[in-house]
Amino acid sequence: MATYQKILVAVDLSSESEVVLQKAQVIADSNAELHLVYVQEPMDNVYVGIVPQSAAFSGLGDLEAQLGEELKQKLTALGENFNVATDHLHILNGSPAHEIHRFAEDHDVQLIVIGTHGQKGLQLLLGSTANAVLHGAGCDVLSVRIGAGG
Ligand code: AMP
Repeated sequence: MATYQKILVAVDLSSESEVVLQKAQVIADSNAELHLVYVQEPMDNVYVGIVPQSAAFSGLGDLEAQLGEELKQKLTALGENFNVATDHLHILNGSPAHEIHRFAEDHDVQLIVIGTHGQKGLQLLLGSTANAVLHGAGCDVLSVRIGAGG
């Protein structure tokens, strides 16, 4: 059976990312390409429907750019720790599941690796990034369980 040659690892840049990445490296053979993807969500996504004209939104662009820089540094450090080439580190903008699907399609990704906190109770009702990625993915998805209860 052919192994996965192109793997997308979805990282939220929390400490959990290392667990997800470790699993991906176990799956990847020595020739496989690992791509780390972090999706930065627009800050006004949450409130713009409620207070569209809020003065608080002015200056958000600068704040987002600054945040983007810090996220880039975190992703770079993670990539260095796991020997991932810098051109395989990607920060995308938008909604995580949507951007992860789009990247996977555009780059012929064969496997998406993502963390999950378990699919019980409230989490099942509210959904999660892993759920959203699983539904609609055009390739295999590995969900890595995180945490004692997960
Ligand atoms: P969540 O269900 O949102 O707590 O996240 C579960 C998993 O989804 C994380 O372990 C990551 O693999 C992935 N994930 C969550 N947020 C993002 C993000 N902004 N960018 C990329 N992957 C993410």
